[in-house]
Amino acid sequence: MTAPLFDRVAFIGIGLIGSSIARVMRRDGLAGSIIACARSDDTLNTVLELGLADEVTKDPAVAAEGADLVMICTPVLTYGAIAEAIAPALKPGAIVTDVGSVKASAIKAVSPHLPAGVHFVPGHPIAGTENSGPESGFDTLFEGRWFLITPPPGTDQGAIDKVAELWTRAGSNIDYLEPEHHDQVLAITSHLPHLIAYTIVGTATDLEEHIKSEVVKYSASGFRDFTRIAASDPVMWRDIFIANRDAVLEMLGRLSEDLAGLQRAIRVGDGDTLEALFRRTREIRRGVVEAGQHIPPTPEDEPPSSS
Ligand code: NAP
Repeated sequence: MTAPLFDRVAFIGIGLIGSSIARVMRRDGLAGSIIACARSDDTLNTVLELGLADEVTKDPAVAAEGADLVMICTPVLTYGAIAEAIAPALKPGAIVTDVGSVKASAIKAVSPHLPAGVHFVPGHPIAGTENSGPESGFDTLFEGRWFLITPPPGTDQGAIDKVAELWTRAGSNIDYLEPEHHDQVLAITSHLPHLIAYTIVGTATDLEEHIKSEVVKYSASGFRDFTRIAASDPVMWRDIFIANRDAVLEMLGRLSEDLAGLQRAIRVGDGDTLEALFRRTREIRRGVVEAGQHIPPTPEDEPPSSS
């Protein structure tokens, strides 16, 4: 147990990601007190039962009042309304941070509302699972994972360092990216893979009945992994695609071109093209393993999903 990093922490949204970092704060005594804000009684009751917060509220402004650190852990399209609601309650010197999967839109939605003397430090943990809600969080989720900080120019260095310290205590490695660059990288590493999974599972469920039942029966042949990713939270992912529209459309354009090339190679029986690609992609997998990014975040044997 060490001295708290923050006297009072407010969570706006406390599902998988919020509750996981709240668990780290509780475990290591990093917050003097925690107040959590969510919309539903179910979530707030679960948070209290799990001992993740000292107080709960449905009003973001009440949560933000007097907080040293406000962590926004809601779907990204909620940010503008939340920032507007908490702005009058924020105390001078407070740090506002977030965990959202898209960063340029987060900055655009939050920054204009914040009063002078309040510091916004946008961040994104590259860790997650397909589960939602405070009961699905766990304190080791961020260990060995990246936490990306995307501060706009002029962000207070002391505030950045405190947020970095929090995530370092959670076991993450910290890196700093330009917000737009972050969004392009995540469009290809995370957003597009989810879109592909949603599409494949959608296509399969539109098949004729007799094929559909066999798809589920023999799903271990690859389809199973797509169904896990396609089980990710519908609202969260709706928001990600809308908030990161430009970068996703750019990457989708490139993917479509490559897919058309493969379609042609298959049609004309060009095995060399197919084999050359598959050899190249196998090397990429080796690189991911060497970078230590293949390790599942849970004790289960499922590979991780993250946004
Ligand atoms: P989650 O488990 O679905 O939790 C979302 C939380 O936000 C819930 O507590 C929900 O409350 C609350 N909420 C939603 N809308 C709200 C509003 N308008 N006002 C107040 N609270 C609201 O979501 P999550 O997986 O933790 O994701 C949270 C954020 O982390 C998202 O921005 C996501 O992009 C990002 N992220 C997710 C992952 C991942 O793998 N899941 C990874 C990295 C980053 P109720 O339960 O009461 O509705």
